[in-house]
Amino acid sequence: MAKPVVAVVGRPNVGKSTFFNYVAGKRISIVEDTPGVTRDRIYTDVEWRSKLFTLIDTGGIEPYTEDKIMQQMKRQAELAIETADVIIFMVDAKDGMTASDKEVGSMLRKANKPIILAVNKVDRVGEPPPEVYEFYNLGLGDMITISSVHGLGMGDLLDAVYEHFPEDTGEDYGEDVIKVAVIGKPNAGKSSLINKILGEDRVIVSDIPGTTRDAIDTYFEKDDEKYVFIDTAGIRRKSKINESIERYSIIRSWTAVERADVCVIIIDAQDGVTEQDTKIAGYAHDNGKASIVVVNKWDLIEKTTGTLEEYRKTVLEKLGFMTYAPVLFISAMTGQRVQKLFELINYVANQASLRISTGMLNDLVNEAIAMVQPPSDKGKRLKIYYMTQAGVKPPTFVIFINDKELMHYSYERYLENQLRKSFGFEGTPIKFLLREKS
Ligand code: GDP
Ligand code: GDP
Repeated sequence: MAKPVVAVVGRPNVGKSTFFNYVAGKRISIVEDTPGVTRDRIYTDVEWRSKLFTLIDTGGIEPYTEDKIMQQMKRQAELAIETADVIIFMVDAKDGMTASDKEVGSMLRKANKPIILAVNKVDRVGEPPPEVYEFYNLGLGDMITISSVHGLGMGDLLDAVYEHFPEDTGEDYGEDVIKVAVIGKPNAGKSSLINKILGEDRVIVSDIPGTTRDAIDTYFEKDDEKYVFIDTAGIRRKSKINESIERYSIIRSWTAVERADVCVIIIDAQDGVTEQDTKIAGYAHDNGKASIVVVNKWDLIEKTTGTLEEYRKTVLEKLGFMTYAPVLFISAMTGQRVQKLFELINYVANQASLRISTGMLNDLVNEAIAMVQPPSDKGKRLKIYYMTQAGVKPPTFVIFINDKELMHYSYERYLENQLRKSFGFEGTPIKFLLREKS
């Protein structure tokens, strides 16, 4: 089920963004059409030969200076190695092989990941210029020559990527294991929280043999429940050269969210909800994941009566798209309320998997319609025939209606609120699909 992640790595100006935009913009097909909270072009979903994958652009780090290029490229490569299933290493045919290509090439070669060498700026069809053969010295095997500007070689490149997709991408944990992504901006306290939890006596941390993900995930058991922290490699190791660069933390959060059942969104109590926090929370929401907002470093806040409730209100105002999420105030340092976090993780995971019978849903629809009339336009009124649940994680409901044009966002919100009032669905987004039926 999980989508493979493909990362593009390479020196500045080799043509990464051009390639990315070509793939994202041209009809290799972008799949995203749902308006989301966040939309930036760092990643894009691509479909190739009926297989959906995510392409991330690790580059574009600005501003750079010559002496920083090497350091940034190393970081890029590291990030790609940590997060991607397949890596496209892009070099420039016009520049030929450079020292930094060599260095990064050798880094990638040592990683246990499929690497596709793409030689860009080969703008003419036919026999490639002889200079490109020097790239064989990188020891990365065969190369694919492309021209991102002219869209040449794109099919060959994507085919090569496709062939290296892992058989089973990451769905290697049992149904009973809750996959948790701890996300948040740098210094919010992610590693402190994770280490606090894993350091508890009653927590049993172990490797799951045979999984492809055990290097980056942390599996553990606590109070007879099974969990895995997703994508903890970077967090626990704290190899944060340049981790302050927003792009890195975004990519990391985002790939973790994709694979999680529950997202624990860490806010620094001293900073409150920042723009970056909103973005990160937006990924969880847009991906239909159950979420818990955790306000960390609560020990540092001066409190009087009502401080907590005030704070909670402000958090939910700022994260207006996520008012369904529980807000928990903790201190990763002292351990205050960390136990409570697990009750919430279990709870929201459960809520996201609730199934409601069609009979009960239709009772709810009938009552809702009786209380608030559906909207009408030019004498035509919205008719809701019935509603049925099509899926879980997130709970997804198909509403059969007479005319999609007549359904307003506000009425959808009303139905959502009615669903929440009757059945809870705490901590999880709810999705509606509209189907016309005459
Ligand atoms: P990035 O820094 O790796 O993202 O590189 P860009 O995508 O910004 O490209 C750097 C420059 O190379 C731009 O001027 C592009 O127009 C140019 N470029 C990119 N791909 C090609 C190509 O296939 N052929 C040629 N001739 N130029 C290209
Ligand atoms: P990360 O970048 O999100 O993994 O954040 P860290 O876990 O590295 O924490 C950043 C800093 O905040 C460190 O100096 C921690 O000691 C500190 N910190 C983390 N959690 C708490 C907390 O609950 N209370 C206090 N006072 N400091 C904390």
